[in-house]
Order: sequence, then structure tokens, then C-alpha cells
Amino acid sequence: MNRPNARPAPVSALHRLFASVAVERQASLAGELRRFEQGRGARLIEAGTTPATVFFIVDGLVALLGRGGGGEAAETGLVGPGGLVGHAALLGSAAAGSSAMALTGLRGVAIEARALRHALEDDPPLRRELTAYAAERLAETEALCVCGALHSVEQRLASWLTRAAALLGPDRPIELTHQQLADLFGVRRASVTTSLHMMEGEQSVRCRRGRIEIRDLARLEGHSCGCRRAS
Ligand SMILES: [Zn+2]
Repeated sequence: MNRPNARPAPVSALHRLFASVAVERQASLAGELRRFEQGRGARLIEAGTTPATVFFIVDGLVALLGRGGGGEAAETGLVGPGGLVGHAALLGSAAAGSSAMALTGLRGVAIEARALRHALEDDPPLRRELTAYAAERLAETEALCVCGALHSVEQRLASWLTRAAALLGPDRPIELTHQQLADLFGVRRASVTTSLHMMEGEQSVRCRRGRIEIRDLARLEGHSCGCRRAS
């Protein structure tokens, strides 16, 4: 498979957490962490509620889903390994603007939001690091607002697949149906199918039942609008 130039691995939110606290506090913070596993489709956060738990993702993909006035949902962000779900909990007791749903099986480490907020209160470096992470998520959501308004389904799909491949690794198939992708983007399934057929025709992806394999990441990236690169 052809691949574009490798990018440096992002610093994970969990790494930031420990890198920013004093050594003597790391043990007590570690004591608050627990491993978790969730199946595909699990809801980690519900929009409109204050997250009780913050999830550091070690493996898997999570879609953040905002809800329109008519009750319809669309993606407002994508979190993968190295990311954190529940960033609203870092902003005081703010309610989450988006739900969080597992798109794959998940593995990670969780901490009660109250314990993390308590740690933030008297630890400015930790607060700075995690507030910066929350700001990155906000910037991603803002970029996706622009993306949805200005770019075609094909561009958005290529951008999403490129980002998912960057998060999961390009050799791992993405197990989502055309309908599930259409639901994420708030578009008709036929639009996703047409775009994927085009990408298949030029051999940048291969689609099987409910499964998309990336065959040529560089070519796929060439179709992307690039809106997710900054996220
Ligand atoms: Zn875009």
C-alpha cells in the first residue's frame, strides 16, 4: 500500500496528564485510574449531561455526536488512541455538547471526573495541559462546522477515512456501513455509496460488507479537503 510521509505520533492525553503533574502526585493520580473495555456502539457520554467519567482512549475510535433541533445527530469530532473523551468535565461542571459513541471496540483508562477536577484545582501545569486538549477538541468542532458547510461528501469522506487511518493505523479496516457513515455526516446513504464507488474505482479503498480497507492512503488524502489535519 502507498503511504504519505509519516507524521510524528501525537502526544497522548494520558501522557500529558502524567507529564504535567509532579512526580510525588503521580502515584495518587494513578490510584484513581481504572482500565475499561467497551463494545462497539457503547455510549460513553450523553449530550446535555455533565460527564461523570473521563475516558483516555488506548485503542479504538469514538465519534462525538451533536444533536440538531429536530433530534437528528451528526459527528462533531473523532477521538482515537491518545485522545480523551469527556473533555467537558475539564471545563468545570459543564454539560457535554455532544454524546460519545464507540465506533469500534474500545480499550482505555478511565478516571472519575470529580477526581480529575480535584487534581486540576491545585495543579496549574496539569490544568494548562488538559485545558489545551479541550481547546483542541473545540477547534476540531469549529473546523468541522466549516467543513460541513463548504465541502463535498467525497472530500469529507476522504478526510474522515484519512483521519481514521491515522488514528487506527492504515492497515486496520474500518468496520462501518455506508449508512453508518452517512449518519455521521448527516447525508444520504447514496451520497456515501457514490463516493466510495469512485474511490474503489481508483483503488484508493476496497469495500466489503460493512468494511472499508485503505489501499492507497496518499491517493485518498489527495481527495480530502484536509480539514481534519489540524485536529
Ligand atoms: Zn472539509
